Amino acid sequence: MPEKYIVITGGVLSGIGKGIFSASLARVLKSVGVDINVLKIDPYLNVDAGTMNPNQHGEVFVTDDGYEADLDLGHYERFLGVSMTRRNNITAGQVYSSIIQREREGKYLGSTVQMVPHATSEIKERITSMPGKVLSIEIGGTVGDIEGEIFLESVRELAFERSRNDFLFIHVTYVPYLRVTNEFKTKPTQQSVQLLRKIGIQPDVIVVRSEMPIDSQSLYKIALFSGVSRDMVINLPDIGNVYQIPETLYESDVHKLVAKRLNIAIEDSQLNWNYPKSFKPYRIALIGKYLGTDDAYKSIVESIFLSGVQKPVVVDAQELEELDDSGVEQKLNSFDALIIPGGFGKRGIEGKIKAIRYARENRKPILGICLGMQLMAIEFARNVLRLPGANSTEFDETTPYPIVNLMEEQKKIMNLGGTMRLGAQKMRINEGTKLYKIYGQSEVYERHRHRYEVDADRFPQMFKRPGEDGYKFTISGEAQFLEAIELDDHPFFVGVQYHPEFKSKVGMSHPVFVGLIKAIEEVNQ
Ligand code: GLN
Repeated sequence: MPEKYIVITGGVLSGIGKGIFSASLARVLKSVGVDINVLKIDPYLNVDAGTMNPNQHGEVFVTDDGYEADLDLGHYERFLGVSMTRRNNITAGQVYSSIIQREREGKYLGSTVQMVPHATSEIKERITSMPGKVLSIEIGGTVGDIEGEIFLESVRELAFERSRNDFLFIHVTYVPYLRVTNEFKTKPTQQSVQLLRKIGIQPDVIVVRSEMPIDSQSLYKIALFSGVSRDMVINLPDIGNVYQIPETLYESDVHKLVAKRLNIAIEDSQLNWNYPKSFKPYRIALIGKYLGTDDAYKSIVESIFLSGVQKPVVVDAQELEELDDSGVEQKLNSFDALIIPGGFGKRGIEGKIKAIRYARENRKPILGICLGMQLMAIEFARNVLRLPGANSTEFDETTPYPIVNLMEEQKKIMNLGGTMRLGAQKMRINEGTKLYKIYGQSEVYERHRHRYEVDADRFPQMFKRPGEDGYKFTISGEAQFLEAIELDDHPFFVGVQYHPEFKSKVGMSHPVFVGLIKAIEEVNQ
């Protein structure tokens, strides 16, 4: 059970980097010897993020234990270098469904089941049963959201029941800069602090995000109106490289401030933090269909960045669909490599297949992830083996060549939430493959999230048997299950059924991405 709590709330607007801040603070505290655990609370009614659209909510991050989480758990894993589990995330959907189930079981017999005390007790119980001495709780959304109220009430009660001194409330807000009048505007921040106070929470620290460094007068004003001392108002202006934030926090002694306020011992150790600072200028295209935001492909984007290469450019798969061969060539030839990410549904599929063909024929390094690998097999079947109309039954149920099929165990599943083949699964890598060279071992655990698989048994003509030559796929995986495919006589044409992007950490990007970048280097030599 945690002894101390750090509660991080957001104000003014969402998307201001509360998750990055929380992960950075936890990273700094970890490096000065604090036994810290992290919890993300998502006030939405979904039980998990698995059924949410990445365009609206960002990618679905998958943990080792097969939980489909909010992308903030990805920040935590990358920054802290540890694996999260389903316990590191609470959603309103989980809380309410467990209350309703308990009610049906008669566990509240005789009582009227209410938000307070029943929902709050359920939330408090989940929070206090987390392992670790210090628990950092990040509450998603912004103060004032209806869904979030019950969670704020729960932490308020918890601070009251235990000791207020065991709690540190940090409010992360945004101060806009008004160009016409040339000034920072602190009013939204003042109002959001007022909202917090109205529900009985007085913040101890205000973290002010802004486009540029804020003048000290404005910071003083925030301190005054919020009722916190000036040294408890921390300004974090935008920076290009978010991995710099732990360093910034460490240098401004935030850990000392936290330790003093919570009365916890910290070591006098250095921040051991190795993040990339210079980036190779390779251009990598991510052929995707979620275009509004980088967040939809967050872990892939960060995996590339953490491999020391500038972030990939998202290229619209649907736009490629409209182009002829020379149009595709024109669109893609300036890139050093392509990535075909995972995805669901038909939209953009044909554009991705065009990109795969282009990369295969032009010897451009390409990595296919999950759906990306499935499409690589389909492209090969159509254009090399000449099986017209080859497809996945996900997109064409009546295809004459169902290269990709629903997995046997999926056929009886009716519900869509949390029912895919999920989480860490053991896989075997065949010796003599590129992947074997990349990993340097033959048994690894990788994270999955899929319902369909490449049907190797039905289409043996696509794959090489040991000792066989020719332009075909070499495969890796357990006997029944195909986990990875690659073409030998291509610099890097690798498809993986799993998601390597979920296992990249700061200082240690996933070997598959490192392998892709090495291939670019070799091609460019
Ligand atoms: N839609 C495909 C499947 O369910 C791919 C999933 C993915 O890319 N995560 O198998």
